[in-house]
Amino acid sequence: MFREGVRLRCVICGSLYPPNPRLFTCRSCGGLLEVVTPVDRGFEWERVRARRFGVWRYRELLPLAEWVKPVSLGEGGTPLVRVDRAAGPHVFVKFEGSNPTGSFKDRGMTVGVTIAKGLGVEGVVVASTGNTAASAAAYAARAGLRCLVYLPRGGVARGKLAQALLHGAEVVEVDGFFDDALELVLEEYVERSPSKLYPLNSVNPWRLEGQKTLAFELVDELGYTPDVVVVPVGNAGNISAIWKGFRELRDLGVISGTPRMIGVQATGAAPLAKTWSTRSRELQVVEEPRTIASAIRIGRPVNWFKALKSVEESRGALLTVSDEEILEAMKMLARLEGLGVEPSSAASLAGYLKALEEGLVDRGETVVLVATGHALKDPDVVRLLVERNT
Ligand SMILES: *Cc1c(COP(=O)(O)O)cnc(C)c1O
Ligand SMILES: [Zn+2]
Repeated sequence: MFREGVRLRCVICGSLYPPNPRLFTCRSCGGLLEVVTPVDRGFEWERVRARRFGVWRYRELLPLAEWVKPVSLGEGGTPLVRVDRAAGPHVFVKFEGSNPTGSFKDRGMTVGVTIAKGLGVEGVVVASTGNTAASAAAYAARAGLRCLVYLPRGGVARGKLAQALLHGAEVVEVDGFFDDALELVLEEYVERSPSKLYPLNSVNPWRLEGQKTLAFELVDELGYTPDVVVVPVGNAGNISAIWKGFRELRDLGVISGTPRMIGVQATGAAPLAKTWSTRSRELQVVEEPRTIASAIRIGRPVNWFKALKSVEESRGALLTVSDEEILEAMKMLARLEGLGVEPSSAASLAGYLKALEEGLVDRGETVVLVATGHALKDPDVVRLLVERNT
């Protein structure tokens, strides 16, 4: 199923493994793994640009063999919109809300569910704050697979739950936070593998391969590398995946410089920003994460080590924004730019404004704000926002 030369590598000790779709952690140190793809794959812009704009345009840079037929809904190829009025002439929003199920999770699911289908499993399983469940449910339906989702009870935005149910997912509600739901899934379906269900949380390095294509699209469309990319951070898979995309383009010689990655967390759910600011080498866990932005309401991000490495290597930063700042940024994008994003996505604009204040970014720099999900995901927060400021 995988391309010749593809390997898995431990991000902590560097151990190498053959491309096993079921192996998520290092057998010698327990660290998470990342996919290593061979460097010379004949990548040429001219050739790839003949294909549709989106995840599968960059097939040469994905680990799946040429003959594998993707389970696809036309994911990726999302709009890159200049946001002059909300942020400035050199600032763009990458609007991931326009993916098939309304979030960037579709980039990962198209690859993850394609692998699940190839494995011949009965279905897929995820823990989720909502969008992973919505996406897994849709792609599983398309592949003719079962989908089982573990959700924190009362912690999922209504639009996301509606999508999971619409696509026929089996829902298990867990008393606790997302972190507790994920722990259950890891115990039940990863450590006790092989099960009949294929786990597709972001500990799965293959899923993250799909998410790295956001970096390819930015360089593809802009024609150059942005100076800074701002990403809302929850479980921290996405910021790690996007950085991996830039690293690969650099290693291929497609770009020379790489952007600084700025990760944004909500004040009440900021384990990584805390770890970063205290220069700790151990994750500063948040036992009871709190924020209105439910997609980033996470206290024990599994990808914490990958994310810290990404921020460090790229000379970026991690910072926090308050729920007030998130709501204000959401309103600015909606009213000044016509962009309807969910609260966690607005954290990237709020984070950019903070980074300007703190001198981490210059006004003249080209910046991309990743708007991770669509406003329709969370109608209750929209109502709150509208009722407060009419
Ligand atoms: C999943 C998600 C995030 C967080 O991404 P991580 O990879 O968990 O850091 C942010 N915003 C939205 C809308 C999401 O769905
Ligand atoms: Zn290791």
